Amino acid sequence: MNLTPTIRKIHSVRLRVREAQMFARAMRSPRHPIMAHIIPIRRCNLSCAYCNEFDNFSAPVPIAEMLRRIDLLADLGTASIIISGGEPLLHPEIEEIIRHIRSRGIIAGIITNGYLLTPDRIKGLNRAGLDHLQISIDNVKPDDVSKKSLKVLDKKLQSLAALAKFNVNINSVVGSSISNPKDAVMVARRVKELGFTGTVGIIHDHSGQLKPLQEEQVNAYEEIVGMSQNAFNNFAYYNQFQRNLIQAQPNEWHCRAGSRYLYICEDGLVHYCSQQRGYPGIPLEDYTGEHLEREYNSVKPCAPYCTISCVHQISLIDSFREKPLEVLGRLFPSDKDESASAAMPLGVKVLTALLLPRDNGRKPSFLTKVFRSAALRLLGVR
Ligand code: SF4
Ligand code: SF4
Repeated sequence: MNLTPTIRKIHSVRLRVREAQMFARAMRSPRHPIMAHIIPIRRCNLSCAYCNEFDNFSAPVPIAEMLRRIDLLADLGTASIIISGGEPLLHPEIEEIIRHIRSRGIIAGIITNGYLLTPDRIKGLNRAGLDHLQISIDNVKPDDVSKKSLKVLDKKLQSLAALAKFNVNINSVVGSSISNPKDAVMVARRVKELGFTGTVGIIHDHSGQLKPLQEEQVNAYEEIVGMSQNAFNNFAYYNQFQRNLIQAQPNEWHCRAGSRYLYICEDGLVHYCSQQRGYPGIPLEDYTGEHLEREYNSVKPCAPYCTISCVHQISLIDSFREKPLEVLGRLFPSDKDESASAAMPLGVKVLTALLLPRDNGRKPSFLTKVFRSAALRLLGVR
């Protein structure tokens, strides 16, 4: 009997607890990065037509330098590190990198195209203590735009389902670079079948900005979001940010890149994100609390049409800490239809019930007020 899927579920619960601790710490203080992306190698074994994040020649960053960068991020108080690229599995000492992240008490994730995953490598990632792995699948069959295809990767997904003890998330993609929007729905169905978590991303252009979605793409997006809550329980789906983006509407938000989110390139420089490299472009060893504070407050002109959802979500924590009722009300308006409200993740339902005033014309009871005040104090927002 294969116990790995059960172990994966137990691991997933433990990870949720650690993420909740990360959230609580981020709510208590805005003075540390919540997430950093780090690049151990810029080279990739594929060449997706829409991608501006790879080359076909770079050498891996030496292991001693990678470990030093992880220590520098740990010293800044970073709560989670995501290894990406290029293709990070091309780094010969990737397991050592993961082990070091975990040894500093930091959540370790990896984003890979999945091509280099073998049963042995999956077991190695288990041993290294990887917390989560994400693969983006762009289409069902490979084409000129992308070879990240369900047809090619399905065997890898089966190996992950059988062997991975870490959390696996498959991201399907809609957007103008993807020729058949229905492909994303087929990918999402397969993800559900295999018991992984799934997300759906809106593809951005070379500056991280939105390309308007066509009707068929919007329908595919909605169909995926409408799938079972168990497989698609990501907070991002239910928020108004994504809703605005699929309609090509701007979002009003404060991007905290350079402070709560850092992107560390292969040269060890700190950038806002993969699409705004060069800003601020400061070596990680020279990055201090003053930089974190300055960038926390800086306003990024690229924010209204930005599609980089991980930075959205990280930045939301600070908006929530500063104005909890306003943010929840904006993201989950009380006039939403019942099916939308039923699809909310449990944590959001609890927060909404505790914190948001009911729109029934009645004043909240004394008990409700006490509960709300206790919940806000618990979350460190009062
Ligand atoms: S696999 Fe990823 S890094 Fe490589 S070219 Fe495609 S999108 Fe870029
Ligand atoms: S808004 Fe922030 S995350 Fe988005 S492209 Fe600009 S700097 Fe990057």
